[in-house]
Amino acid sequence: NAALRLSGISKGYNKGLPNEVQVLHEVDLTLAPGELVALVAPSGAGKSTLLHIAGLLDTPDSGGVEIGGEDMTGLSDRRRTQVRRNQVGFVYQFHHLLPEFTAAENVLLPQLANGTPRPEAEARAGQLLAQVGLAARADHRPAAMSGGEQQRVAFCRALANAPRLLLADEPTGNLDPATSDTVFEALLGLVRETGLAALIATHNLDLAARMDRQIRLEAGTIHG
Ligand code: ADP
Ligand code: ADP
Repeated sequence: NAALRLSGISKGYNKGLPNEVQVLHEVDLTLAPGELVALVAPSGAGKSTLLHIAGLLDTPDSGGVEIGGEDMTGLSDRRRTQVRRNQVGFVYQFHHLLPEFTAAENVLLPQLANGTPRPEAEARAGQLLAQVGLAARADHRPAAMSGGEQQRVAFCRALANAPRLLLADEPTGNLDPATSDTVFEALLGLVRETGLAALIATHNLDLAARMDRQIRLEAGTIHG
């Protein structure tokens, strides 16, 4: 089964209004399990819209979304939420960690919310943080960490519930080049280790070139 399959996805905003905008035109995209794909797009091309649709945070006007072989069309909100929580991880340009919790707790919380027993959740949090070189930072709050460290914690949190699909929107967008590189290496390690599929929007062409495949989103259509 494909980790993600988008078929004929179209999406617009403000239908019928003077400011109507058609953002996606019949987009087709398939990610195999374990595949790391760069999504390269100029600003405003619709990449956030595409990622939100792929991650079930938004619905297309037409077209199909399949995650792990399951067709998401017509599913109840309850089931969509379940799939989003269990099978999809998100990372954004800004980490959105909870400031009052430590790194380990930030990775723990989504697991507890999902019903994972605390000892198991703690073990997984420790293991994920160690994998990205942050074992020594587990008990630090986000404010005590650098931008690159915060973003590595955000990756760990996104992977806390062992999703099959990772969606990232400019995950290194606010980091300097050297830090971007370290954070990207950490991400690469996690993706390769877990075998999940990842769709990563980036403006950084060097990073894009190091992924398995690049796709460009231009004028609402996928190229490459
Ligand atoms: P990107 O992430 O590539 O910058 P977006 O998907 O955020 O692009 O937006 C694509 C286009 O859709 C832009 O023109 C944007 O202004 C418009 N857009 C995005 N979200 C909305 C919305 N909720 N309502 C109206 N227009 C929107
Ligand atoms: P304790 O220290 O008592 O074990 P935690 O701080 O680990 O408690 O949080 C316990 C639960 O409270 C978690 O399952 C979490 O879902 C919830 N929780 C508390 N504060 C927040 C918050 N700001 N955002 C999300 N969940 C929270």
